[in-house]
Amino acid sequence: SMASPALLMRVVASAYSVAEKAATIVRNVMAAGDLGIVEKTGANDLQTKADRLVQMSICASLARKFPKVTIIGEEELPADEVTEELIEDGHCEEILKKTCPAQYTGIKEEELVIWVDPLDGTKEYTEGLLDHVTVLIGIAYGGKAIAGVINQPYYNYEAGADVVLGRTIWGVLGIGAFGFQLTEVPAGKHIIVTTRSHSSTLVNDCISALNPDSVIRVGGAGNKIIQLIEGKASAYVFASPGCKKWDTCAPEAILHAVGGKITDIHGNSFQYNKEVKHMNSAGVLATLRNYDYYASRIPNTVKQSLVP
Ligand code: AMP
Ligand code: MG
Ligand code: MG
Repeated sequence: SMASPALLMRVVASAYSVAEKAATIVRNVMAAGDLGIVEKTGANDLQTKADRLVQMSICASLARKFPKVTIIGEEELPADEVTEELIEDGHCEEILKKTCPAQYTGIKEEELVIWVDPLDGTKEYTEGLLDHVTVLIGIAYGGKAIAGVINQPYYNYEAGADVVLGRTIWGVLGIGAFGFQLTEVPAGKHIIVTTRSHSSTLVNDCISALNPDSVIRVGGAGNKIIQLIEGKASAYVFASPGCKKWDTCAPEAILHAVGGKITDIHGNSFQYNKEVKHMNSAGVLATLRNYDYYASRIPNTVKQSLVP
């Protein structure tokens, strides 16, 4: 008989289905019209009913299947019992058919950490910029982001009634990333993608110093990595401490799976072990190609303002 698939592949295959269920919840909450907005640290740091329900759904669904895995979600929620209708127990067969890279076949449940951003781009969700929103499930082992799922619930929402709404992108280091068409920005074009709702003087000064051909301001860390892998932007530059580990884990795994690179503004890699502090205090610099071009042009004054 066939050996059962490696734990990592079973976790990714389940995370894929769990992220699709999450996308349905995100769309249903918006369609119902009552977002139940709560301010966390302030008006630019929001939580909606979708953030809450999706986190419950993702964390409870994965914990039921993989009880010894550490799961860290963005939202602080009361330890309510999760209703059965929020549980997803399916998985993606296609992912289970892929061969697990040899260095990951022996991974045990207690060695995995899953970082969950139930709804990335909440500010934009509340403002109707729906395709900025993603659901992020990042999987870490040995402190490194090794696999990830990004669901974009409103992908194609302006493309008309004939198209399928939403998509799921997934990737594993050593296998690759799927669910999109890998595209590079035309050679020599410098297009920076950055925040639209969390700007600061430092964020803008850093971008100016890089002298880009153009700047795209959109919400969501997941959405910005999608801009990189689909050839819309050449660098994601965010000289600010606002991003957290759940924002970068899944995007990092997918970007690295296709040969890109993400670090803080100093060039330090991110760590994802369960004890790590959540804040990415020294900002974000990510590219699909030509990382060194951007890294070498970050001003020292910017670096000195962002302590890791
Ligand atoms: P943005 O590019 O502004 O969408 O930010 C990417 C991610 O980092 C989102 O999850 C934001 O909520 C988070 N983030 C960035 N800056 C801040 C901030 N100043 N306060 C709270 N969250 C932030
Ligand atoms: Mg987020
Ligand atoms: Mg979030």
